[in-house]
Amino acid sequence: MTVVLDGCAVVTMDGDRSEHAVGHVVVEGARIAAVGEGPAPRLPDATYVDGTGCLATPGLVNTHHHLYQWLTRGSAVDHTLFEWLTTLYPVWAGLDEDTVRVGATGALVQLARTGCTTTTDHHYVFPAGGGDLLGAEIEAARSVGLRFLPTRGSMDLGRSRGGLPPDHVVEEIDAILAATADAVDRHHEPSPDSMLRVGVAPCSPFSVTGDLMKQAAGLARDKGVRLHTHLAETTDEDDFCREKFGCSPVEYVESLGWLGPDVWFAHGIHLDDAAVAALAGSGTGVAHCPSSNARLGAGISRTRDLHDAGVPVGLGVDGAASNEAASLVEELRHSVLFARAVGGPRALTVRDGLELATIGGARVLGWDDRIGSLEPSKLADVALWRVDTAAHAGIKDPVAALVLGTPPPLELLLVQGRAVVRRDTMVDVDEERLAVDVRAASGTLLDRAVGR
Ligand SMILES: [Zn+2]
Repeated sequence: MTVVLDGCAVVTMDGDRSEHAVGHVVVEGARIAAVGEGPAPRLPDATYVDGTGCLATPGLVNTHHHLYQWLTRGSAVDHTLFEWLTTLYPVWAGLDEDTVRVGATGALVQLARTGCTTTTDHHYVFPAGGGDLLGAEIEAARSVGLRFLPTRGSMDLGRSRGGLPPDHVVEEIDAILAATADAVDRHHEPSPDSMLRVGVAPCSPFSVTGDLMKQAAGLARDKGVRLHTHLAETTDEDDFCREKFGCSPVEYVESLGWLGPDVWFAHGIHLDDAAVAALAGSGTGVAHCPSSNARLGAGISRTRDLHDAGVPVGLGVDGAASNEAASLVEELRHSVLFARAVGGPRALTVRDGLELATIGGARVLGWDDRIGSLEPSKLADVALWRVDTAAHAGIKDPVAALVLGTPPPLELLLVQGRAVVRRDTMVDVDEERLAVDVRAASGTLLDRAVGR
């Protein structure tokens, strides 16, 4: 099956950052066959999509999320991270397979509708008797049609041992390691065309023991999968590490074997120059989540410095409980605006922002050999944005229209060459039905919290 996007502006994000004012993208099956300037060749049996008035970009890559939080949006709306977490832990304690499936579907649909073709997820709440929560979100990603890198998260440092989460939402270390190994063995698909890879992701320094961090790193390296956690998000976390371990968060995780090209951290806000150099020197990546960081008043990541130092940086929406919009294209806009707000007008260009959202994110996830740019032989993950609407008409540079303008409608979103969004509507998901299911599941979680 051949699909040809024709007559659109094309931003490839290839090594030369090639762009075509009027160009084409030819997709054959799961892969990109050709990208170029001018009209597409006439090919037998191909389906042509008229891209006039549109901009084709690589599908956006989301490098940090907690999909289940779609069901707990709008709680603790004026709180710090630690206050917000202690409000929400008891609600999350009611998660089970059904609620996770519905919440994940809601979050994944929002990602798809905002240009995302690949997302990770960091699921770290596994209440006793909750069932196969990772399996439930993998099923959701299949039904929506996105490429997926779920991570098996965990918490083993409950309140009684000096951690932040209540004891009833943490697990024992042996059970965590066994379940994590099982998740990788059952679900991880290492093949070149993989739609599903699995990672290992203890939650954060204040909810996980050093012992679990060390053993999780060993497990991930044995299995050849990636490592992820939250790091350097707030000054509270920085204080926690300095009091408890006598060093910065980055020094702490370095002592546990947690720096390297197979590791990426969510946030990376409170980093001094030595920490930036340690990330750069080790090839450790950062998932920058500007809206969530602003929502929780955590600060603004040193995106420009990280980028200039050579640290792989991608964008993340973070969990929807701290970013109710959960719109990846809006993170693109916020990354550029926030960087300039602290670093001046040249801190991040619109094309730098698009780079973070595409090939940058692919690097962070260790997937840039297959996705993140529009190049022959790469997997066909493509966003085709309408930049000729009344809201965008007259903006000459289509990248400026995408990054600085109101989020454009999606004419088409292809994942692995398959249409997931067409004319701003989900192809395989009934969105009205989904809204009903999300409302019900969200109510169920709140009822369970009240009942406990
Ligand atoms: Zn997070």
